[in-house]
Amino acid sequence: MEKPKFYQLTKNERLATLVEQGILNQTDAEFLAAAQPLSDELAGNMIENQIGQYQIPLGVVQDLLVNQTLYQVPFAIEEPSVVAAANNAAKIGRINGGFVTESSTRKMTGEVVLVDLGDLKVAQDWVSCNNDLLFEVAQAAHPSIMKHGGGLRAITVAIIDQRFLKLTLQIDTQEAMGANIVNTICEAIAHAVQQQLGGTILLSVLTNAAFEAVVSASVTINPATLATSTLSGEVIATKIIAATDFAKVDVARAATHNKGIMNGIDAVIMATGNDWRAIEAGAHSYAARDGAYQPLTSWQWTAQRQLQGRIELPLPVGMVGGSIGILPTVQINQRLLNVQSARELAGIIAAIGLAQNLAALKALVSDGIQKGHMALQAKSLAIAAGANDRELTQLLPLLLTAPHLNTAIATALLAQLRAENK
Ligand code: NDP
Repeated sequence: MEKPKFYQLTKNERLATLVEQGILNQTDAEFLAAAQPLSDELAGNMIENQIGQYQIPLGVVQDLLVNQTLYQVPFAIEEPSVVAAANNAAKIGRINGGFVTESSTRKMTGEVVLVDLGDLKVAQDWVSCNNDLLFEVAQAAHPSIMKHGGGLRAITVAIIDQRFLKLTLQIDTQEAMGANIVNTICEAIAHAVQQQLGGTILLSVLTNAAFEAVVSASVTINPATLATSTLSGEVIATKIIAATDFAKVDVARAATHNKGIMNGIDAVIMATGNDWRAIEAGAHSYAARDGAYQPLTSWQWTAQRQLQGRIELPLPVGMVGGSIGILPTVQINQRLLNVQSARELAGIIAAIGLAQNLAALKALVSDGIQKGHMALQAKSLAIAAGANDRELTQLLPLLLTAPHLNTAIATALLAQLRAENK
């Protein structure tokens, strides 16, 4: 008999396979199998007014090849079909030599804004001439980031709208995402500037438009590897390029194009304890950086008639800080991924974004999105209608051949099944 595929196994069998393959250790596998909630003490200390816990499933995308290393990527996501699609694209990527990532700088940016300053030009000159003093203030405000090899790297100053004095701080936050580090330094510098120049501090905080932490990933695909039973790879590749060109001129499409990318990115961001609101804000502000909202990926032909895809977006993720060191599942996910640095993690996440985009575009321009979703949608409807595991196997074939997929039909078919089974 043929060996069952990973997705055909039960959860415990999947965990046992990962242990056998040396990807997970036994203790981590047992922790995941037990699916323990957080202790009330921990959960209650993490947020205010805690009244419970909210669960979503954790899946894994297998063998994503990035910079010639294979990664097992944890996905925390509630939406069906995202993990399956990412696995599919990971396979296409693997056959084609994998994803290649690049990141130049990895700094966070902070903004300090003062108003009510008498002479803005004099204030601007003072900041420009007193960088040394402000660097000392930053160091005193957060000495520990200096010990980790980071800290303030640059200050620029500008007059905005003849009203605001804005200092832009570039801060190296090393292995942390760095919001707290940046905010601490920004506030200290704001007070130092105010002490010298007067005026009012309007705000001092990081910007989530982390354009100094941009990461890119690319993949080059032989179109033949995209072929389906009905369409040639050449046709699919041509349509993927055209669909992306369309997203460049149609904001309604660009939003959905990017949502598909964020399906994968957010799932890894969540699984690794990072701040998905920060990543979302950064991604969409980057997509609109030139004034018009654009797709985050591009697809084109190479001179050798290969399909080349590229993604570029800010990914200021952390390996430490925030809830990362607190949540046990996040620690397990870091071990599952086997990443050593925030930069490496950001590269994998960029590759996942590109893979997710490839899977969505391929489905969209070939069979349509719904075909692949039908079985999963039917399953969600059946579960929502109250079907148990045994009933699911009987109900799903009925639902998939029903004229429509909706709650009313799922409920009616389940009732009919129960009556017949009595
Ligand atoms: P933390 O302040 O929790 O963590 C950073 C700390 O980790 C450092 O100060 C340092 O402290 C420690 N650390 C240990 N090793 C390293 C290393 N190698 N490199 C860097 N730091 C190290 O979090 P962040 O500053 O990263 O902020 C992230 C949190 O802020 C997230 O929870 C986010 O949700 C939240 N946030 C986000 C905002 C936004 O996005 N707009 C706004 C405000 C908060 P030490 O040396 O003392 O151990």
